[in-house]
Order: sequence, then C-alpha cells, then structure tokens
Amino acid sequence: MAPDDDPRRAALRDWLAANPNPSGRQLAEAGWVVPHWPAPYGHDADALHQLIVDEELQKAGVSRPVNPIGIGWAAPTILMAGSDAQKQRYLWPALSGEEVWCQLFSEPDAGSDLASLRCSAVRDGDEWVLNGSKIWTSGAHRSAFGILLARTDPDAPKRRGISYFVCPMRTPGITMAPIVDMTGAHSFNQVFFTDVRLGADCLVGEPGEGWRLAKATLANERVSLSSGGVLWGSGPTVDDLLEAVRAGGGVADPVLRQETARVWAEGRILTLMRYRTLSARLSGAAPGPEASVQKILADEHGGHVMALAKSLAGAAGMLQGSGPTGTVPERRRAGPTEMKARGGLGGVDPVWHYGWTFSPALTIGGGTWAVQRNIVAEWVLGLPRDVPG
Ligand SMILES: Cc1cc2nc3c(=O)[nH]c(=O)nc-3n(C[C@H](O)[C@H](O)[C@H](O)COP(=O)(O)OP(=O)(O)OC[C@H]3O[C@@H](n4cnc5c(N)ncnc54)[C@H](O)[C@@H]3O)c2cc1C
Repeated sequence: MAPDDDPRRAALRDWLAANPNPSGRQLAEAGWVVPHWPAPYGHDADALHQLIVDEELQKAGVSRPVNPIGIGWAAPTILMAGSDAQKQRYLWPALSGEEVWCQLFSEPDAGSDLASLRCSAVRDGDEWVLNGSKIWTSGAHRSAFGILLARTDPDAPKRRGISYFVCPMRTPGITMAPIVDMTGAHSFNQVFFTDVRLGADCLVGEPGEGWRLAKATLANERVSLSSGGVLWGSGPTVDDLLEAVRAGGGVADPVLRQETARVWAEGRILTLMRYRTLSARLSGAAPGPEASVQKILADEHGGHVMALAKSLAGAAGMLQGSGPTGTVPERRRAGPTEMKARGGLGGVDPVWHYGWTFSPALTIGGGTWAVQRNIVAEWVLGLPRDVPG
C-alpha cells in the first residue's frame, strides 16, 4: 500500500540494519512498539505509517515485546490519565516487555455486567485497602503489575463509584488460585485480596473515574494488519490450514471439501472487511458498522477454522495433538511453550489441537458473542436497549 521508497520505510530499514536483533528496550526507545504515540514513546504515526512499521518489522523477522495488557491497556491509560511519576515509573518497562501486566477487571459475579463489580478499595490515610476477588485473570502469576478496577464509593451510581488502580502483584494479602483451562494450560487465575494496602500513588486519575478510564483504554486501538492469525491475531490463518491440507494430499471427502471452501470464503470476507475498515481509517473516517461486526465474525471464524482442522484429521482428530499434516510457520504459532513444541504424530502440528481447545474462548473473552450482538443491535441497528441503565 505505501510505496517502497516512502522515506518512513527507509528510516526504519536503516534502523533495522543498524539493530538487526533489537531487544524490547531498544524497540521501545526507538518508538517502534507504539509508533502511534507521541514522542518520546512513538512517532505520532498515522495509520499508513503504522502499517509501514508493521510490515517492515515483520519482513525483518522482528517481534514486538509480548505484553498485550501492559502495552495495549495499562500503558495508554497511564499515558492519558497517570501522574508524571506514574508515567516515569511504569511506561518504559511496560513498553519494553520487562514488566508484564495483567488485567484485574472480571469478578465471579461481574463479567458482562462489569459495572456491578464489588471488589472494594477504602481510603485509609495515605493508603487504599483492597478486599474482594477477581477471576479469569490471564497471566496474573507471571505479572509484575495489574490494572485493577475497584469500588471506592458504594453509594454512588454503579458506574461512578469505580476507580482505576495500578496493583503491584507481589503486595502482601494477594493470593492466587490457578485455573487450568481446557487446553491443559494454566493461563488464568482467581486472585484474592485480603486487606491489601496500596499506596495513594497507585490510584490512576481521580476517584470515581475508573469506568471512564476503562472505556477510554478499550477504545485505544492500534491499526492491526489483516495478516493476524485466527486466535485473536495470533495462531494460524485459514490459508495456513489450506497449506497444511495441500501438504497432506488434499481433501477427498465432498462434504469436507465444501466446508473447506466455505471457511476459506469466510476468511476472505473478513480480510476484505478489514481492508474496508483500514481504508476508512487511512482516509480519516471513523470506523463504520463493519468494524462492529468484524469481531463477531472473526471470533466465530477462529472456531470454524479449528473445527475444520479437527474434521480434516478424521477419527484421528479425537487424539490430542492431531490435525492436518504440514506445519504452521513459527510466527503463527500460539499458546504456551509446551503446546508449541512439534508433535510426534507423523508431522502433525499440535498447534491445531491447541487452537481447537482454545477457540471456544474466542466468543467469550473481551465481551461474549451475545454482548457483541447487543452492541450491534443497539449502536448499529438502533434497536431498543437490552438492559436499561
Ligand atoms: C480467554 C479469556 C481470557 C480472559 N482474560 C481476562 C483477563 O485477563 N482479565 C479479566 O478481567 N477478565 C478476563 N476474561 C473474562 C472475560 O472478560 C469474561 O469471561 C467475559 O466478560 C464474560 O463474563 P462472564 O464469564 O462473567 O460471563 P457472564 O457475563 O456471566 O455471561 C454468561 C452468559 O450469559 C450471556 N449474557 C450475559 N449478559 C447478557 C446480555 N445482556 N444479553 C444476552 N446474553 C448475555 C453471555 O453471553 C454468556 O453466555 C477472560 C475470558 C476469556 C475467555
């Protein structure tokens, strides 16, 4: 899309030639982790410039640090509403991936209706005292910090009584119970807070601003290329599946051939929708209705690709580690390290089994399929609100 001789491309190529194996810190300090941010963290990159950066890093085989909550959620909120001291303390280690972050939002009784959360933070002198529990906290056991929503004013209307905190995960009074999901991996936790004392400097913004900050963070979206895999941007694509199928000799069964064509067509439609959203962004327009339905379709497409991979393996699909023969490129592999290791089942790649067991989560995390449809019904189709208030 951007010409090969674009000077911004040349600048990044020069940098990559001088830094062929950059560390997370080098990438962050050069502004390539969040190019759309202002200096000193980024280059104020517009959508086209962001695409150039993504393309050039990908071509050079350079990956950004893996710290999705830290880079995608915590850091933008701290940049927007944090104090100078918070910016200085947290931003560089988050952007460089040196300090991993988790997201302490969902509770046992507050998921889709997040504003009903009950975890409380009570001010006591120079500290806040936390009590309650969070659940489904991905990576809490590997995180240095969490972004946490807590109720600081139980008498205020529910969305106004919530505040936003930075929570150091090794603070006394925090305990965790691992939750092993059906991929077999320990990726989630339930986190318990018993009289946990956070310094007043852990509050981000003003008391009662938590809901506004959480929403603003969610809207802080980077341009994402259509080349991402079907598991929320990582993992293999439908084209990787077709490549694996071809390597294994094609599909003989007529029903499976039809299903393969249907899932491939679905993948193409999604790619075209992403291009449409992207062109709108490049010409300065706000995302239209197609952006709202994109998440619904993309999440379901992930499930369809993985279910097809299992069906293509036939009866052997019931075995762990099974899927089409042929391997998936390294950059498309997702999941915990032990799942990434190549399996011994005649060249079959366990990435398909991991993806199949993970894929039901796609239509739950980040807003369930039903909640996404409510959003489309209300904000795109203008239908009456689902739950008033
Ligand atoms: C892979 C994964 C990673 C996650 N990581 C994190 C994390 O790091 N941090 C974090 O805080 N949370 C995390 N979550 C939790 C996630 O945000 C919640 O699971 C999600 O918001 C749904 O909440 P819930 O599980 O309480 O389900 P509920 O809200 O209880 O929903 C139960 C069922 O009711 C339906 N439903 C609910 N409300 C409506 C409605 N208004 N209309 C129609 N149907 C409705 C839902 O669709 C669902 O089928 C993660 C979840 C997954 C799957």
